[in-house]
Amino acid sequence: MNYLLKGGRVVDPSQQLDSCPLDILVERGVIVKLEDNIAKTGAAGRRAKSGDLQVFNLEGMVVAPGLIDMHTHLREPGFEYKETIRTGSEAAVASGFTSIACMPNTNPVNDNRAVTEFIKRKAQECGLVRVYPVATITVGSEGAHLAEFADLKDAGAVAFSDDGKPVMNAGIMRRALEYAASIGMPVISHCEDLNLSAGGLMNEGWIATKLGLPGIPGIAEDIMVARDIALAGFTGTPVHIAHVSTKEAVSLIRNAKTRGIGVTAETAPHYFSLTDEFLEEFDTNGKVNPPLRTPDDLQAIKEGLRDGTIDAIASDHAPHGRTDKEVEFEYASAGISGLETSLALGLRLVEEGALTLTQLIEKMSIMPAKILKIPGGTLRVGSVADITAFDPGMAWTVALPLFRSRGKNSPFGGWALRGKAVLTLVNGEVKYRNPLPLDGGGLGWG
Ligand SMILES: [Zn+2]
Repeated sequence: MNYLLKGGRVVDPSQQLDSCPLDILVERGVIVKLEDNIAKTGAAGRRAKSGDLQVFNLEGMVVAPGLIDMHTHLREPGFEYKETIRTGSEAAVASGFTSIACMPNTNPVNDNRAVTEFIKRKAQECGLVRVYPVATITVGSEGAHLAEFADLKDAGAVAFSDDGKPVMNAGIMRRALEYAASIGMPVISHCEDLNLSAGGLMNEGWIATKLGLPGIPGIAEDIMVARDIALAGFTGTPVHIAHVSTKEAVSLIRNAKTRGIGVTAETAPHYFSLTDEFLEEFDTNGKVNPPLRTPDDLQAIKEGLRDGTIDAIASDHAPHGRTDKEVEFEYASAGISGLETSLALGLRLVEEGALTLTQLIEKMSIMPAKILKIPGGTLRVGSVADITAFDPGMAWTVALPLFRSRGKNSPFGGWALRGKAVLTLVNGEVKYRNPLPLDGGGLGWG
């Protein structure tokens, strides 16, 4: 099937493009034309005659490069009650994502080619979203011995990370950065000094004191960000900092970038949407690692996004089962099921003027593609048709039981948000279209 996407506002930061109305013609999986008012018939009228062209009227919609989430947890193998590659893929395409990278803290952990190949095979069987496995830095994510990087790359891993845990040994981290750089692979660092965070349940500060909960100080993150920047500078290799949550980390990364150090960074929507005040009701849906921080940190995250210090927005999608969350705060697992609220929470930043729409899409498409060195993030003529269309104004209320993800754990339940994916094309095929009747008209399916 070929597709004509008509009349949308096409926003593609990779071509400095923000134009409305603009049409996109997709033939045999590839974007072949990007023009105003493409005729519904081909040059020789063949398409209409053969009936193989489907037209989508996307008036009022934003059409963007397929969104890329560079930090998700799909939980399979090992924790299928939290999420499977299929349910995670379904949640992803319904939320506008055409590619996702999944972290290796499964059971067994993805520290060998058998697991990497299993994830890739499962994802292909699902045939929804592109799934890029991230393999571990160290064997078993235990921080002692480097995993077989070259073998993992060969099996299809796109990056290395012990996410969920830091690499505490700076000597191991140095070798990891050098070895990964020598084979052109990115390293994603979960920055947490375990000695400083030990025993902590939420951000260290007056709210933790008031609640009587042990705190995780911001410096547990900052000191590791500083270390990894120092290592990147010393070795001349790049490092990517995962889920930045503190003001000081933003400042360290900003400073490193001005010194020409190859550091990139991501944050997650909860760090620019919520603070530790959310935990005053002891709601375990707000327990996450790194923890929700202070209003000062939240402002710094927004500023870091705005000025380019933080390159990407990633969901850190961390689905959990009820038994993981419906327990005492101390025993609850950390994490937020984030895929399905990512875009709408990002759009709040656009609505309040913290980011332009172009900046938001840049941080959710082309930047993750660049950091992970994977295809996508562009609507250039000739590129594979990974395309997301969303209604930026569609109002909806977050209803956790309706999440496609098995993880219903989110602090955003009941929130009134705006913006929802309406059409997701992966490799030139429709993988999701919003089944709801849409407000405001405009979206017609022909
Ligand atoms: Zn992490």
